[in-house]
Amino acid sequence: MKNLFSLSLLAVLLSSSAFASDMPAANANSHRPHWSYKGDGKPKNWAALESDFATCGIGKEQSPIDIRGAVHADLPALEFEYTAGSANVVNNGHTIQVNLETGGNLKLDTGTYQIVQFHFHTPSEEKIRGKAYSMVAHMVHKNAEGKLAVVAVLFKLGKTNPAIAKVFAHMPMNKDEKIELPDGFNPADLLPAKQTYYAFNGSLTTPPCTEGVVWRVLKQPVELSRAQLAKFKKLYPMNARPVQPLNGRTLQESP
Ligand SMILES: [Zn+2]
Repeated sequence: MKNLFSLSLLAVLLSSSAFASDMPAANANSHRPHWSYKGDGKPKNWAALESDFATCGIGKEQSPIDIRGAVHADLPALEFEYTAGSANVVNNGHTIQVNLETGGNLKLDTGTYQIVQFHFHTPSEEKIRGKAYSMVAHMVHKNAEGKLAVVAVLFKLGKTNPAIAKVFAHMPMNKDEKIELPDGFNPADLLPAKQTYYAFNGSLTTPPCTEGVVWRVLKQPVELSRAQLAKFKKLYPMNARPVQPLNGRTLQESP
């Protein structure tokens, strides 16, 4: 990012000078779009934007997916061991993200993962039998080996969500701005009462689209108000990657 920025700055400086035509390389680089959800940086173009993003195009286990035809399986309950801790809210230019230092753990059959952050997409990236929800929170966890597990919490329109209110009251309006939540945050406050889920393997839904991510999508949505959704959409009207092919992946659902 820094390099791209200084290159574009250089290009701007040079273009106002007589040397502009001597610097085609710098100009070309400065016009390479940054990844986004529309225009030249749109999801279809992600793989071509940077060499590190190739998986976005050639990966065979990409996220998000349209969840349908899941097989009932005797899967263990998700063990959330979340705790209240310090938290800060960041506007990273693609979404609003809450970073947690001591938010606690998620225990899966594949091991113990610490929650590191959660962030939002609208509409929900995951679809259930073709239907997107108004918003989704991706709760991102990491184990000791650095492997990721993401729990998706779906949101439908309804009552004001008090946990979302705590976050959105401190929503940073500018890119790269960070605000400390004065009372910290307990990620347990985002979870629905019932925690049955869909289970599958996938990837990050943003570049570099790295695979090997364990996905757990909670079936029961929670609610947020129309005003809360509008507040997020004012900053990010659409930040959902289109659904990706399943390519024969196992798709299970817990009882
Ligand atoms: Zn996400």
